[in-house]
Amino acid sequence: MRVAAVDFRRRWEEIGPAAAAALEAVGQSGRYILGQEVEEFEAELARGWGRRYCVGVASGTDALEIGLRALGCGPGTRVLTTPLSAFATTLAIVRRGAVPVFVDVDERGGIDLDQCERVLRSRPDVRTLVPVHLYGHPLDPAGLRDLQARFDCRIVEDCAQSALARRGGRPCGGVGQVAATSFYPTKNLGALGDGGAVLTDDEAVADKARSLRDYGQTAKYRHDALGYNSRLDELQAAFLRRVVLPRLAAWNARRRGIAGAYRAGIRHPGVAVPPPPGDAEPAWHLFPILVAAGRKDAFVHHLRRHGVDCGQHYPVPIPAQAAMGEVAWEAPFEFPRARAFCAGEVSLPLHPHLTPAEVSWVVETVNAWEG
Ligand SMILES: *Cc1c(COP(=O)(O)O)cnc(C)c1O
Repeated sequence: MRVAAVDFRRRWEEIGPAAAAALEAVGQSGRYILGQEVEEFEAELARGWGRRYCVGVASGTDALEIGLRALGCGPGTRVLTTPLSAFATTLAIVRRGAVPVFVDVDERGGIDLDQCERVLRSRPDVRTLVPVHLYGHPLDPAGLRDLQARFDCRIVEDCAQSALARRGGRPCGGVGQVAATSFYPTKNLGALGDGGAVLTDDEAVADKARSLRDYGQTAKYRHDALGYNSRLDELQAAFLRRVVLPRLAAWNARRRGIAGAYRAGIRHPGVAVPPPPGDAEPAWHLFPILVAAGRKDAFVHHLRRHGVDCGQHYPVPIPAQAAMGEVAWEAPFEFPRARAFCAGEVSLPLHPHLTPAEVSWVVETVNAWEG
């Protein structure tokens, strides 16, 4: 048996005809950039997300950068963030000329809100946060809202892995002045290429983001800011709205079912399964498990030998990446938990098109590890 970490072939078997119809509709429309498809997709995503405005952009990285810029983050701004994420989270911050301030993560791999509070209390120069709902596990919205209110913070939530996750019955990504998400093909809300979105309740922020994505235009041929070429195109928007959004709730439910089977079935003294928060419906973008530092390579080898594809999210703490030697950053404390995730995290296959037999095979293979 071979269990793939992602399986676009099976996804295409399900959606191919609907995707072809979306292509036909866009082709017939004669409008390929910033037309009706983008507008309708934005309206629908904003509604599902419980936010007033959605602005489609070219990627999740751009959504973070444009969101930060729309909130006034620029050169020298200190931005609290996590050392354990896709590098893109930090890349968006340093592309603003801002300075990432890294704090450790909690037992689930999400940014440690207590450490955020310690930094905010002692550092009045730090008032911007980019937390990440890593693996699709929503961070505590009450904790985030408390920091935002007490310290008057600007927050850009990185929801690239948590599209339509919920916590406390409400959509994840409803606290920050901005939520940013990605439509990279492997994400839960994945397109057939790149894309992303800025979500907000603030009309001025939405207007700013809309202008920035389109060369900084505020009206045709009128440029009030040096913007970007960062538009979500009509084809991706049509695909997302007509093909993915109608299936996303079922796909996420299927992911939750598989995660439940993994959590119930995996019984191994050398393998820890970080539990999701009790009041959450995670998006289960990934299913992370932890093995002891020093045993990861042997475990990954065991899985691969038995046909189980897996990932590692993420093997290197962001501040330890070579590229970070080129820019300023700070780390007020050590981050041992993030380092432990980097040393011991392995992501099991988790996508909506896994078969029950494959799910059982993954559980059996993990439990059979002689490590
Ligand atoms: C994928 C991802 C991004 C970047 O999104 P792109 O669309 O690839 O630019 C940012 N943050 C996190 C947490 C991600 O998983």
